[in-house]
Amino acid sequence: MISVGTSLESSRKCVTHAQKYINVYATVGVHPNDTAVTDFSDMEELKQLAKSSQRVVAIGETGLDYYRDRAAPEVQKKWLEQHLALALELNLPVILHARKSEHDLLDLVYPFIQAGGSAVWHCFTAGKKLLPEVGEKALSMGLMLGIGGVITFEDQQALREFLPLIPDKHLLLETDSPFLNPRPRVSDRNDPLQTVRIAEEVARLRGVTLEDIARVTTRNACAFFRMYDETEEKGKIAYAIRNSLYIALTNDCTNNCEFCARNQSYVVKGHDIKLDHEPSAAEVLAAMGDVSKYDEVVFCGFGEPTMRLEVLKTVAAQMKQQGQTVRLNTNGLSNLYYQRDIVPELVGLVDVVSVSLNTADPAQYRQMCRPRFGEAAYEGMCEFIRACVAAGLKTVCTAVEMPEIDLAAARRKTAELGAEFRARSYVDAG
Ligand code: SF4
Repeated sequence: MISVGTSLESSRKCVTHAQKYINVYATVGVHPNDTAVTDFSDMEELKQLAKSSQRVVAIGETGLDYYRDRAAPEVQKKWLEQHLALALELNLPVILHARKSEHDLLDLVYPFIQAGGSAVWHCFTAGKKLLPEVGEKALSMGLMLGIGGVITFEDQQALREFLPLIPDKHLLLETDSPFLNPRPRVSDRNDPLQTVRIAEEVARLRGVTLEDIARVTTRNACAFFRMYDETEEKGKIAYAIRNSLYIALTNDCTNNCEFCARNQSYVVKGHDIKLDHEPSAAEVLAAMGDVSKYDEVVFCGFGEPTMRLEVLKTVAAQMKQQGQTVRLNTNGLSNLYYQRDIVPELVGLVDVVSVSLNTADPAQYRQMCRPRFGEAAYEGMCEFIRACVAAGLKTVCTAVEMPEIDLAAARRKTAELGAEFRARSYVDAG
């Protein structure tokens, strides 16, 4: 739990609680609505409080509130600037509040971010027309967006529509206790226990499971506020997303796509899948554990699974013996890699082959995917797709929804190859 200071007095209490309880962290700050009744000289005590304990993880709640009108905007701005300066000085993130002040807030926070600061827009929302614009601007600045009970409110359709567009790495959950009780209300007062209800709604709207959202937002919160996360695991070989169990066999790849998500981070839906070694079949099977609860097993990861063909075949054979559905996500360049047709070796072991076609234009493919096989790559991939179709494997070609990709042409090319087509969202891997 993070106990958020909103005045000098409450900041003192937050720090006391954080030092007393192992699962409580603190922030210190003066809420914009309190700025008219607080003296600027109190900033010095806030600074000393922030420095007094390593369990102080952020500066704030600070920001601008033109809705309540309890302090003049110029006074609020001055306080916000002081908070931002303190956060930079102490190298702490900032918790921001905005009401009817979205553009002013972003304008003031911009130089702070440029100077290396980090911030969360707490209980993110805005007016219906304004929300997509300020949301995109906040994301482009690198802000985290905190989602609270407001996501369950009937009049927040704009927020519900924007929510799936927030990349995983920018997403946090919060309660704003004792305010903003999720709907339907189960008590008069909001409390941290209600986070799970917010998480359930966020999971539903983003089309993932509660476990996925819990994992993603716990990792984000621990990284953003620099708190220790005892649940964090690195180098996962097997990782669950929705009802699928994904397998990472390698970080090596015959492509070097310019859009590959691993160029930014090896974290997928809260799983760190940067392998410290290439696992054996026995290690993979041990990492998978009981697979009976999953709908499918998917060979994927940040790398090309077919580069570990023998391990892939051994694990897939075990899965088929257990009656599992097996999917292979591939760049389709394995026949070029092995200089032979490997498709017959997949028959009976793999149910679905998903090939990243990416584009109908070979020149664009070469430019975007930077294959190690150069000009031969695109036609080699098409040959692989034709071979999969001819072998009776369910074959799906995918392309990422990006402005520079002609999805209609990719769809036509897929039909020509005899496969099914699926457009993938660019927002997040996994
Ligand atoms: S084929 Fe996949 S894993 Fe390989 S570089 Fe491209 S996006 Fe990344």
